[in-house]
Amino acid sequence: MPYLISMSVFRGRVTRSHPITIALYCLLLFSNRSQAVWKRQTPGPQYDLLIKNGHVIDPKNHINAKKDIAVAGGRIVKVDNDIPALQSRKTIDAKGLYVVPGLIDIHTHVFVGTKAEKFADGIYSVSPDDFTFKSGVTTVVDAGTSGWRNFSLFKEQVIDRSQTRVLAFLNIAGSGMSGKPLQEDINDMNSDSAVVAIHKHKDIIVGIKIGHYEGSDWTPFERALEAGRKSNTPLFVECHLPQFSLEDQVTKMRPGDILTHSFEQVAERMSVVDQQGKVRPFVLAAQKKGVLFDVGHGGAGFWFSQAVPAFKQGLVPNSFGSDLHRFSMNAGMKSMLNIMSKYMAIGMSIEDVIARATWNAAKSIKREDLGNLSEGSVADITILSLQNGKFGFIDAAGKKLEGNSKLEAELTIRAGKIVWDLNGIAAEPWKQ
Ligand SMILES: [Zn+2]
Repeated sequence: MPYLISMSVFRGRVTRSHPITIALYCLLLFSNRSQAVWKRQTPGPQYDLLIKNGHVIDPKNHINAKKDIAVAGGRIVKVDNDIPALQSRKTIDAKGLYVVPGLIDIHTHVFVGTKAEKFADGIYSVSPDDFTFKSGVTTVVDAGTSGWRNFSLFKEQVIDRSQTRVLAFLNIAGSGMSGKPLQEDINDMNSDSAVVAIHKHKDIIVGIKIGHYEGSDWTPFERALEAGRKSNTPLFVECHLPQFSLEDQVTKMRPGDILTHSFEQVAERMSVVDQQGKVRPFVLAAQKKGVLFDVGHGGAGFWFSQAVPAFKQGLVPNSFGSDLHRFSMNAGMKSMLNIMSKYMAIGMSIEDVIARATWNAAKSIKREDLGNLSEGSVADITILSLQNGKFGFIDAAGKKLEGNSKLEAELTIRAGKIVWDLNGIAAEPWKQ
């Protein structure tokens, strides 16, 4: 302690009361006190979490570079080239990894309950937290599993009890996807009741869904559009409308309305690519008009015979809705990251893949507070690794496409909290 030694030397001289020595001693005493005061007032680290050295892809802010991200109070507070680790209570080294906004899946079925053979309050839906974080997803949109009659049960049973942010397209059918004949009862498709529910829960309900109706009467579609117009929210159109022509559907849809299962090849809906392998002109015209095309992979909604020629001819999906439910997750869909990797195998760049899983998805549901890493935004952050090797991707026809890279979720953060850590990159080493 050289400082203490010098103190005692000065103390020795003080006894001799030399004026210069006294002055020096006072100066030293003052500096000693101010140091102690400074030590008491110095704040601790200002950030809760710091992600260092990662390759950040944040399409909203046009960032595609190495950056550090600091989090405090559940929000992103700083994005910069070099933020010192000393300023954070916890630091994660993301070297060699991609750091992106928490992924948004705009097509899921998560109104899980105990009813047999049903999606609404039933066993065909899945519990969101069980599947989201491990694939980097922090926000899901339930695609019309509930309607205005049973939305409050869905909210109480699932939305309020999940760590995943659960948003919803409200089904125009009052009881949502509760099976026939209830879900096809036109008398229960009430646009005013749907609008009342949307206004009451505008922080959760992001649009209206139409999807299961086997009649030829356009009333359900018109009522769904009317509810969308009155609430200024998008209409989400699922395929199970066998009597409606695809051309009529996309013609009625407004810019910003969303078609899902875009690349399916099933009897109940005309495909977007014709038998000669050409994208139908009215489909390209609809996309030009502003109709959005969601993948909506599901169990039967994604076929390479449609998706590959569509991609090559410029019909590129706007978002990667997974159509998560108990069947699709065990078939070719698997997870949203698997769909993203599949599109990389088809030829999409990682930047374009991330944009569709984050900022594009946020914009399509008019939630521009999400899907980005802006300072001030909620800290929903996903850290991805890009695995290289030989991988196979399966479509609804059971066909395989080979690829040489695959995305995996290393770490998922929801509102500043670590909710998934595959290899313990945020954990302290264990010592015996
Ligand atoms: Zn669906």
